[in-house]
Amino acid sequence: TIPVLTIDGPSGSGKGTISRAVADRLGWHYLDSGALYRAVGLAAAWEGLDLSDAEAVANCAARTDIRFETAGEGEPRVIVNGKDATRLIRTETAGAAASAIAAHPQVRAALVALQHGFRRAPGLVADGRDMGTVIFPDARWKVFLTASAEERAKRRHKQLKEKGVSVTLAGLLNEIAARDERDASRSVAPLKPAQDAVVVDSTGTPIHEVVERVLAVLPE
Ligand code: C5P
Repeated sequence: TIPVLTIDGPSGSGKGTISRAVADRLGWHYLDSGALYRAVGLAAAWEGLDLSDAEAVANCAARTDIRFETAGEGEPRVIVNGKDATRLIRTETAGAAASAIAAHPQVRAALVALQHGFRRAPGLVADGRDMGTVIFPDARWKVFLTASAEERAKRRHKQLKEKGVSVTLAGLLNEIAARDERDASRSVAPLKPAQDAVVVDSTGTPIHEVVERVLAVLPE
């Protein structure tokens, strides 16, 4: 079977950056499952759907065409129903829509086959919240990537500052703590490490070192 490395964890844990770097180093495919939820949130909003309508959003998820296009360096472009949504899916609005629609079991179910389709030779690095617990429970290696709430708030603060958005660190910290609480306690796909996951705490650790620690989970 095709090997899978799952990397789950809360937002701001550096999952995206680390997972992409690990996939590059291994020469494996990369699944950004958060981008799928963001894309569906966006598509549902474009259609003017009520995001709390699980059936309607699940139908939308099933007919939304989501494509990742890798062109050399950097983040792949995300094409939603033929439109380049690479930047749009990263907005706070898309993040909030993603988190709302991700709470519907019907929507999650509609995205399972699509996610399984990313498992192609020579291997897959799957990044998300439920990769090791729900989508690829048989993955050969599982990592749960965390960082303290303070560290994640600082990273987010820096990112937003670079984008010219001004927010207070204290406000961000509150928001992150509240989201952690919500994600861990929600009834659908709560965020928790798989039983057989290796927990990697990236607090105070530079990216290249976290990448090495994740790669160390795999044998030579
Ligand atoms: O990781 P990212 O911030 O892009 O994910 C956006 C939202 O999608 C998360 O807040 C989460 O609610 C949802 N999500 C999920 N399961 C995944 C990936 C993302 O529920 N595997």
